[in-house]
Amino acid sequence: TSNNLAGKVVVITGASSGLGEATARHLSAEGATVVLGARRTERIQALADELNGGGGKAFALQTDVTDANQVKHLVDTAVQTYGRIDVLINNAGLMPHSPLERLKIDDWNRTIDVNLKGVLYGIAAALPYMKQQHAGHIINVSSVGGHKVRPGSAVYAATKAAVLMISEGLRQEVKPYHIRTTVLSPGAIATELPNSITEPDIAANVRKLYEAAIPADSFARAVAFAICQPDDVDINEIVFRPTSQE
Ligand code: NDP
Repeated sequence: TSNNLAGKVVVITGASSGLGEATARHLSAEGATVVLGARRTERIQALADELNGGGGKAFALQTDVTDANQVKHLVDTAVQTYGRIDVLINNAGLMPHSPLERLKIDDWNRTIDVNLKGVLYGIAAALPYMKQQHAGHIINVSSVGGHKVRPGSAVYAATKAAVLMISEGLRQEVKPYHIRTTVLSPGAIATELPNSITEPDIAANVRKLYEAAIPADSFARAVAFAICQPDDVDINEIVFRPTSQE
């Protein structure tokens, strides 16, 4: 279509499934160049091959967002390959819900490392380039779950609330560099996310709630909407959910 998306270089973390994959497909179809990061290399490589085969421009690089050097390498490689980075989408995440009393300390740490530190590492990797360019767009993925905590979601909600605060703080700080910031807060979308739950009973409950989940393209369209705005318009936050979700 229109506008402010075609030709842009967009780096997406967690591009191997769900929202990241759907966004890569959508933005590529709209003419963006997409740089795909995730741990499952086969998946992002297959997606890059498919997009390139269909006339798009895509590139895959294995990236674990819990390692700041790997995130920096992803962004550095994007800039070396395509000359710039227009958009970073900090999308990688997991949601291993469980009540705090079950003391799933490994799950807590993984959630914080990916959902919170991973976002910071993305910002650290992209910001120097975007400052130099005097242009850029950082898109972070929070959640409806970052606005409201429920039993079992405390640690996930804490990381997603942190993403809201980091995004708003970033927005205020990077204005002088003409860098836009957007945070997306989706409700239930059908992806592999419930697979990250390690407690079987909790997983079963969440899967029940996810029966009302909407397709991942809903997220991709919201991302495209934010990017497509003219440079002087910054869509700060988009909250959306299935029409039937509480
Ligand atoms: P999926 O489980 O389908 O995808 C998660 C993605 O994150 C995968 O591509 C996975 O790739 C990647 N990932 C996980 N750990 C790491 C890591 N250490 N390094 C790099 N990548 C990693 O779930 P979604 O697509 O739903 O999740 C995407 C984002 O959307 C998350 O931040 C999630 O919290 C958020 N969200 C999702 C909602 C939903 O209902 N689906 C609602 C609200 C927010 P790999 O395993 O190959 O590394």
